[in-house]
Amino acid sequence: MNRITARRVTFNIDALKLAQRTFCSGAGAGVKLPGAVSDQEPADKHELHSDLPVHDVAIVGGGMVGMALACSLAHQPLTNQLSVAIIDSNPALLSSDCIKKEDPPDPRVSTVTPATIGCFKDIGAWKYVEQHRHAYFDKMQVWDYTGLGYTRYNARDINKEVLGCVVENKVLHKSLLSSLQNAGFQQKIYPSRLSSMTIQPSSSSCPHKSLSKLELSDGNSLYAKLVVGADGSKSRVKELAGINSTGWKYSQNAIICTVEHTHENRCAWQRFLPNGPIALLPIGDNFSNIVWTMSPDESSSRKLMSEAEFITEVNRALDNGYGPHPKPRPSGPFSWLTADATTPSADEGFEVPPKITKLGSERMVFPLSLNHANTYASRRAVLIGDAAHTVHPLAGQGVNMGFGDAFSLSKVIAEGIAVGSDIGEVSLLRRYETERKPANMAMMAVLDGFQKAYSVDFGPLNVLRAAAFHGAQYISPLKRNIISFASGDQRFPLFL
Ligand SMILES: Cc1cc2nc3c(=O)[nH]c(=O)nc-3n(C[C@H](O)[C@H](O)[C@H](O)COP(=O)(O)OP(=O)(O)OC[C@H]3O[C@@H](n4cnc5c(N)ncnc54)[C@H](O)[C@@H]3O)c2cc1C
Repeated sequence: MNRITARRVTFNIDALKLAQRTFCSGAGAGVKLPGAVSDQEPADKHELHSDLPVHDVAIVGGGMVGMALACSLAHQPLTNQLSVAIIDSNPALLSSDCIKKEDPPDPRVSTVTPATIGCFKDIGAWKYVEQHRHAYFDKMQVWDYTGLGYTRYNARDINKEVLGCVVENKVLHKSLLSSLQNAGFQQKIYPSRLSSMTIQPSSSSCPHKSLSKLELSDGNSLYAKLVVGADGSKSRVKELAGINSTGWKYSQNAIICTVEHTHENRCAWQRFLPNGPIALLPIGDNFSNIVWTMSPDESSSRKLMSEAEFITEVNRALDNGYGPHPKPRPSGPFSWLTADATTPSADEGFEVPPKITKLGSERMVFPLSLNHANTYASRRAVLIGDAAHTVHPLAGQGVNMGFGDAFSLSKVIAEGIAVGSDIGEVSLLRRYETERKPANMAMMAVLDGFQKAYSVDFGPLNVLRAAAFHGAQYISPLKRNIISFASGDQRFPLFL
């Protein structure tokens, strides 16, 4: 681990009891950066009975999003001197084990967008991703079981080389960790879990400098100016900060697993079936990953069925079950749409996905839900990633939204430091919320709309869906807009 420089303040326990948890970091003379905790933090006037570490930022949750924030803070000139605590009991954070090429693929993967790839490059993490298994894809095909239409996307439609890259979650995580370790940053990892969080009221001698006190499950405690909840969908920070959220369960589960096929795959495939979509995502070599949404009953039986039966079911779902293949070009009422089709992919015919031959991992099941925190920021606490929002995985956007939060928050913290603001002040944190909430809500609305539109088998709606497939396939501006939005280049779709 890098230099561990959690700065300590001392204070008198009796005084603390009297003041009912009154604590002051006292940023005065000797502060290196505005907004950062000083090395010479003035101690409370009562001295030395206990000492607890004080950090500028405590990131609760060292998953992919929490680590992206730490890494981003480490790579900005205005934030790279902050003292950052990362609290998470995940042993991967302290492990020096390397991921080997020959290790079996992690069934948990993420499709990362070109926007995310760009940010990873900026923070020096992408070069580590490229040292491990990953798969860029430049084509995508989306269709449904009715056989009424399909859409193909090609990176050349928007003059790009790739539409995205599929990376195992453990590779994304390890790459962020490697980049952080090489940055010479002052992070301290607490291998524990957050139990409680209280804001220490400001004292009369320092009215504006209250801190948040965090108590951990292993009995340790620390103070922080800003607590970042990157602790996933069941966020303890959200709960302790009293932030409510809105959402619902989808009555759908996703089965994920790695599968092997006969030849290499460079296309991302998604077919909508009556009970939910199935996606086949390339992960390099002859492997792909499956994300298959279905009813909870179906997921229970498909998790338990034999490998041979499961593979047969997967091949039916991707190819020859539920309905016919779409026709090469629309006829009848939709034929006029083809007239102005100018994108390279408009001429691409429907293709059948690779045939699955083997299972490459265990099958894992995840219940699916939508959840959105009513606010992302409160005094000394802010939410990022799944702690702020969870979405349906049908377009592979969840962690990309979280990375967007992490990079936005680190920029806002830097802006606050530049003007001498207290980084835990809610007025500063609201700037992050103002930037991220509308973009996240737009994405959530689109994903939820898709989930609902493709969950209904009803004649007129099937025709509307066919129109949508043809529109996306042949109306060039619409197609480019969809690709740019899904790539993270554009924050809002055309119609919002
Ligand atoms: C089936 C499926 C497929 C998906 N596919 C994609 C995809 O292709 N592309 C994409 O962009 N997204 C995808 N997602 C979404 C993506 O996986 C999540 O958005 C992402 O994992 C969220 O990351 P996070 O770091 O915010 O939270 P998490 O990954 O949940 O990490 C939270 C961390 O906080 C820690 N923690 C929890 N509680 C505490 C506590 N009290 N104290 C300390 N630490 C704590 C945990 O140990 C964990 O390390 C998919 C999701 C599912 C379910």
